[in-house]
Order: sequence, then structure tokens, then C-alpha cells
Amino acid sequence: MFTRIKGTQDFLDLTLFNFIIDQTKKHLHAYHFTEIATPLVEQSALFKRSLGTETDVVSKEMFIIAPRTQDDEEMCLRPEATAAMVRAFVENNVESTPWQVFTWGPMFRYERPQKGRYRQFHQVSMEVIGAPSILYDVQFIKMLDRFFHERLGINNYALVLNFLGCSADRVAYEEQLKKFLDRAEGICDLCKARKDKNILRIFDCKNEACQALYQKAPVITDALCQQCADEWAQLKNTLELLSVSFVHRPTLVRGLDYYTKTVFEFVSHQLGAQNAFCAGGRYDQLVKHIGGKQDQPSLGAAIGIERLMLVLELVKDKLALPQVQPLHVIIPLSTAQQALALFVADELQAHDLCAQVLLDGASIKSMMRKANKMGAKLCLVLGEDEQRSHEVTVKNMVTGHEERIAQTDLVQYLQG
Ligand code: ATP
Ligand code: MG
Repeated sequence: MFTRIKGTQDFLDLTLFNFIIDQTKKHLHAYHFTEIATPLVEQSALFKRSLGTETDVVSKEMFIIAPRTQDDEEMCLRPEATAAMVRAFVENNVESTPWQVFTWGPMFRYERPQKGRYRQFHQVSMEVIGAPSILYDVQFIKMLDRFFHERLGINNYALVLNFLGCSADRVAYEEQLKKFLDRAEGICDLCKARKDKNILRIFDCKNEACQALYQKAPVITDALCQQCADEWAQLKNTLELLSVSFVHRPTLVRGLDYYTKTVFEFVSHQLGAQNAFCAGGRYDQLVKHIGGKQDQPSLGAAIGIERLMLVLELVKDKLALPQVQPLHVIIPLSTAQQALALFVADELQAHDLCAQVLLDGASIKSMMRKANKMGAKLCLVLGEDEQRSHEVTVKNMVTGHEERIAQTDLVQYLQG
């Protein structure tokens, strides 16, 4: 037997998944975002350059596609979409900014699979490229908060926020942090390695002793230049003005190198260890970093669809999920009525009525049982008698009520 590739899933019921995508599209259109699509494969170099080579994603999670010829560049399945969307912005010479776009689809990371963590997972990725004012961040976060709260009716989540400053602030802060770590005793080996390679990531350490120690570490929001300090204050104040609740967590640093200034996560305790179902922030240098002619301060976020689905499980009953169309199962009693059954079904389907014909030639009893299992609302029975009189016996599968309807009146009867 063949099995799924580890960390991938089969979706046999896409109702909730599609509902999320539909609601996302509705919501984002109201904020004037345009849906775009970029390839699932990109040059590996794009992600090395944008996310950073010392990040988990690039150093150990990439799905690399081996080059076939010497001339092929190394490709990979995209681990995230922001870098690809920025590449598209630069490559297509988009001129009108802010460029407000979104895309959704599968992402690939070679991770250890567990609850809420897959090797193929799905994201909605939203970007605002060319948006220098920090008030864009407020508008963007409010948009997400309204989406989760109002459109999806989720209440049990928190918005966690931090501010990483500009690159000059980062350099100065990293120096401070390094000094702190030089003096600190008993940090784990991973943190020791991160100290030299990607120092901010020490805050993601799972080791309790390290975490206890980092409670006393210098705080990045205390080390901001005047302009960043003002922006950080404006961000917090304006979010409050718009009634967005948030928690400031000084150790929130996010895993990718391209972030500057604002970083945030929407988290739910319901999710356990992998508690973030949406994450994002500002990336002021990325456009130029991957080849744009000029700086385009930007921001973005990604929603993890599988994790959002887990959060929504609890409130599922309150969601206005699309109604399943009533099913009409057409039952020809013998092979002599099978062609007629197809003809009747064709007429229903042409009028957008959901119909399925049972063509197995089984007994009426077993076909009725099958129709019931399929969730039929009505069975349309065609026997010799019905064929002769140009009628159909319509059986209501809930009440058991039966009546004879002329074949020519059937569509009107079912629509009524
Ligand atoms: P985490 O800390 O959970 O590893 P991350 O920082 O790697 O997340 P991002 O790259 O910012 O996550 O992706 C944004 C969102 O995508 C996450 O908040 C999460 O909801 C979802 N996500 C990330 N990786 C996975 C995965 N392997 N499986 C399912 N969802 C994921
Ligand atoms: Mg991760």
C-alpha cells in the first residue's frame, strides 16, 4: 500500500477550509487587497537571501529540488510566500504603491511533524509593499483582528506584539545582548551557537533555565532610537484608540531575518505548543535586499490555515458554513429504466439541482439503503409503471411520504 508522504495530509472534507478562504477573500477585498499567485517553486537563493541562512527554515527545513543539468539553478518548494511576493513586486516593476496583495496555498518545510505542524501546510499570505508610515501597521493589525474576531467569531486569542527597531537599533541592541550573554552562566549549547550566528533567536529557546535567565536580559524596546521609540509609542497608542487589545512581549523576535520594527503573533492557548495561527511584521529592507532599485518599507503576515481550522473547531456550530445542497438520488428499478434515469438526471442537473443516478442494478431495498447513506433528501424512483405513465415516484427520505409527479413537472416541483 502507498502512504502519504510524512507530514502531509489528505483533505476529504474541505468545507471549513474553503469557508476560511472565501471569508478571507471577502474580508481582504474590503480593504482593497488584490489576490495574486506566484509559483510553488522558486530559486533556493531567494529564500537564502531573504530569510537568512542561519534561520531554521533555510538551514534545515527547505525542500530542495536537485538540479538536473549543470545549468539548472537550485530550486526549492516555497517555504513561505513573502519573499516570493517581494520578488514578484521587483521583477514585474510594480510602480503603484502601497501594493496591497494576498495569496494562499501550500507551503513546504521539512519539520518534525506534530499537532499543528506539517511538512506541507497552507497559508494565506498578505503583504503591503511600499508603506512607510507606522499607521499602516495599525490598519493591518486592525484588519486581522477584525477578521478573527468579527468575521470568524473567535474570542479566545491574544495578539502578542513587539518592536525590533531599525537596523541601527538592532546592531546596538545585539551588542548589548552579546555582552549580557558573555556574562551569563549556564546557557545551553544551542543558545551558545545562536549567540554567534543569529543572536535574537536565543529568545525562542525551549530550555527553562535559559528562559529564566533571559527574563533579566536587556529589552529591545528600551534600546530604540528616537524615531523608532516614537513609532513604537504611536503604534501602541493608535491600536488602543482602535480598541485592539494586545500584549507586549519583549522576547518576541520571530524566526526570519527580514523583520524590522513591528512584529506580532496571534496566539491561542487551545493550540498547545504550536500556538500561533497568524504571524507577521514589518520588513523595511527586504525589497532592496533582493534587488529592488529603492527601499520600500513594507509589512505582511501569514495565517496558518490548519491552525486556524483547529481554533475554529470550537466555534464551528456558530459559523455560517455553506449549506449542503439537497441531494436527489434517482433509482431506476431495472436496467430498462437506466437510460430514462440518466435523461431525468440530466434535466435536473441542467437546472442546478444536485442529482445522482444509481446504476448498479441492485434491489430496490439495497438502493434505498445506499441513497440513505449518501444523505439523499428525496429518492426519485423509476419503474416500469412510471416509465409507461411518464411519471416519477418521489419519496421523501425523512418523512417517508411518497407521491407521483409527471416527469415534465419534476424540475418545477423540486425547485418549489
Ligand atoms: P512556528 O513558530 O509555529 O514554527 P513560524 O514562525 O515558523 O511558526 P511563520 O513562518 O511566520 O511561522 O508562518 C506563519 C504561520 O504559519 C504560523 O504562525 C503558523 O500558523 C503557520 N505555520 C508555520 N509553519 C507551519 C507548519 N509547519 N505547519 C502548519 N502551520 C505552520
Ligand atoms: Mg517554524
